[in-house]
Amino acid sequence: MRQTLDNYEIVVKQNLMNDLGEEITSVYPYKDIFVITDHNVFKLYENLLTTKLNMFNLKFVSVEPGEQSKSLSTYQEVVQKLLKLGMRKNHLLIALGGGVVGDLAGFVAATLFRGAPFIQIPTTLLAMVDSSIGGKTGLDLNEGKNLIGAYKNPLKVLIDPSFLDTLPKVEYKNGLAEVLKHGLIGDPKLYEYLKVNDKLTLNEIKRAIQVKVNIVKKDPFEQNERMFLNFGHTFGHAIERHYDFAIKHGVAISYGMLISLELGIKAKITPAHLFDDVKNILLRLELVKEPLLDKKQFIEYIGFDKKNLADGLRFVYIKNIGEPIIKKGVEI
Ligand code: NAD
Ligand code: ZN
Repeated sequence: MRQTLDNYEIVVKQNLMNDLGEEITSVYPYKDIFVITDHNVFKLYENLLTTKLNMFNLKFVSVEPGEQSKSLSTYQEVVQKLLKLGMRKNHLLIALGGGVVGDLAGFVAATLFRGAPFIQIPTTLLAMVDSSIGGKTGLDLNEGKNLIGAYKNPLKVLIDPSFLDTLPKVEYKNGLAEVLKHGLIGDPKLYEYLKVNDKLTLNEIKRAIQVKVNIVKKDPFEQNERMFLNFGHTFGHAIERHYDFAIKHGVAISYGMLISLELGIKAKITPAHLFDDVKNILLRLELVKEPLLDKKQFIEYIGFDKKNLADGLRFVYIKNIGEPIIKKGVEI
């Protein structure tokens, strides 16, 4: 699969690592490449990348794994290391890792030298189907997640599902929650697949990516349709905050999606059977367990969601599978 979004290509292919050199050469004429990654991914893939890209002069900067690396202090460390390693204007950055590395490296690429060319090589399911696509980059502050950021398109997004072979199960499931979301907001077939399957094939990964590509194409700057991607996230973010980010994002948005379906049923927008259908998928995937969380305890956090526009909370409901709608205001 080869898709163009804005003016860059998203390539999805099993064993794409074998063609990395060619893919990069077609958009980057020089030899120096600076790879930003985290320690887990570095340990697993440093050798492989060095071998596959032996025609380049490759340098690595590796950060601590985890959300804490999306910070201003890590940003500064990374930039200083890059300069020390000899990075100059027009040298290429590669983000090799999950969404944390993608957001951090993307933000470096958006700002260092007022913009550096960069390529995304996502290695988690979440990063493949979601964060590597659409050009959003960012850092967290103590005051909130993703508060600092920039839109920065990569030169290419190179997606090789073979990276998922080493991904821990809990991280895989984290990504499945977003894939289910993509099914619900944009692809009935993908949703049906998850009713009975736990493991994606290349085909479903492509479908999940396609949902995001289509939405971002229609609305790059989140004026309308891109908000559909926030389905389950208003409550999801509130749940994450309530638990002080000690639970996985995929788990939080799983509960968030169920609350949104319940509220949709109450508002006579969502078909009544959809709550139980989705709950059964999420129970089977062990993304939620019973008793489900009580939504009331999260309401106080919702006012702080930066995605709430000033003129009132916009809430995403599912009218039918693949047919989301946005309504102002939500009755809890
Ligand atoms: P992550 O980057 O922290 O990766 C999860 C864990 O998996 C890490 O420990 C990492 O070291 C490890 N890992 C990565 N690839 C591996 C592999 N192939 N084998 C073994 N281990 C591997 O988390 P994530 O879930 O990928 O990303 C979450 C981040 O993405 C959040 O910060 C979120 O805000 C961001 N995000 C951004 C966007 C966007 O549009 N920019 C969209 C959604 C999420
Ligand atoms: Zn999400």
